[in-house]
Amino acid sequence: MKHNFGAGPCILPQEVFKQASEAVINFNDTGLSILEISHRSKEFEAVVAETESLIRDLLSVPQNYSILLLQGGARQQFAMAPMNLLKEGGKSAYLDTGSWASYAIKEAKNFGSVEVVASGKENNYTIIPKDYTIPTDVDYFHYTSNNTIFGTELFDIPNSPVPLVCDMSSDIMSRKIDVSKFGLIYAGAQKNIGPAGLTIVIVNNDLLGKTGRTIPSVFDYQSHINAKSMFNTPPVFSIYVAMLNLRWLRLKGGIEEIERENIVKSRTLYEEIDRNPLFRGPSAVEDRSRMNVTFVMENPELESEFLALAQKRDLVALKGHRSVGGFRASLYNALPISSVHLLVDVMQEFEENHK
Ligand SMILES: *Cc1c(COP(=O)(O)O)cnc(C)c1O
Repeated sequence: MKHNFGAGPCILPQEVFKQASEAVINFNDTGLSILEISHRSKEFEAVVAETESLIRDLLSVPQNYSILLLQGGARQQFAMAPMNLLKEGGKSAYLDTGSWASYAIKEAKNFGSVEVVASGKENNYTIIPKDYTIPTDVDYFHYTSNNTIFGTELFDIPNSPVPLVCDMSSDIMSRKIDVSKFGLIYAGAQKNIGPAGLTIVIVNNDLLGKTGRTIPSVFDYQSHINAKSMFNTPPVFSIYVAMLNLRWLRLKGGIEEIERENIVKSRTLYEEIDRNPLFRGPSAVEDRSRMNVTFVMENPELESEFLALAQKRDLVALKGHRSVGGFRASLYNALPISSVHLLVDVMQEFEENHK
């Protein structure tokens, strides 16, 4: 068994893989595979309804918010969010905390003007800027709650005079959030929710239909709301596996329990990074991500040797993103604490070898 620290697509619980594989042969005793049933069948409608209701319960989504199960990934939302919320000739505001945030900014510029209120770029995105004001004359303020590549996370929801839009791709379902503080939340599913191919959108219905723009129907949230996420053929298998994973999360004790575990897992690893003289964490301590722990070596020449040792101990996908270097250990919900303990053991073994 490998210990998968990959950043996404990533680890899901073993029992979810097992249940998913059974449904590929025989879904719910229908004698049909989940891959061949109609998305309009009552069996699959039940899957969509349960997935939506799990998301609503786990995150306490208020009734006036729609939950959409879409395709296109978070990157499609970089465009869909401004298309649906930024008025013709209007303005938006963005916080630039990393690569994903800057891609979102680039995309919004296709639909109106964008004010970047602050950027962490000069600090190579190791710090989340905190000293900025959100303008009152913008249609929304967009930020990224967890910077998957750089390993920083924004824990306090910004106090905003305008609707908040958040890319939560890599920390959704990892900790408690107050959905009512947001206008729009979106997330690619392939980090904490399920396999790739599904995108979750949670939107306050009151914000829609105000741009004055003609939105192609496939990019219009309202089409998907009206069609109950069946405007086009939904990613049937991805939704099914997401449902299994969210059932697993609820059975475990929901967000409260997983948040407790995520705190322990990340603390365990950061303590070793801080203690072990061979390693160093580049992110500002107060902004350290619980989901994606980035770390480098004091002597970069040892990095490939460490990766080789980790690989030998069955710890995989620890190489950092090419823009940061070093290592990245993604500690998503399904990664057990035992995998973190093993990583710490290997870091200590490496330290011993280099005494
Ligand atoms: C992975 C990721 C994305 C990209 O998601 P896609 O589904 O591949 O488009 C965007 N934002 C964040 C924060 C991510 O972690």
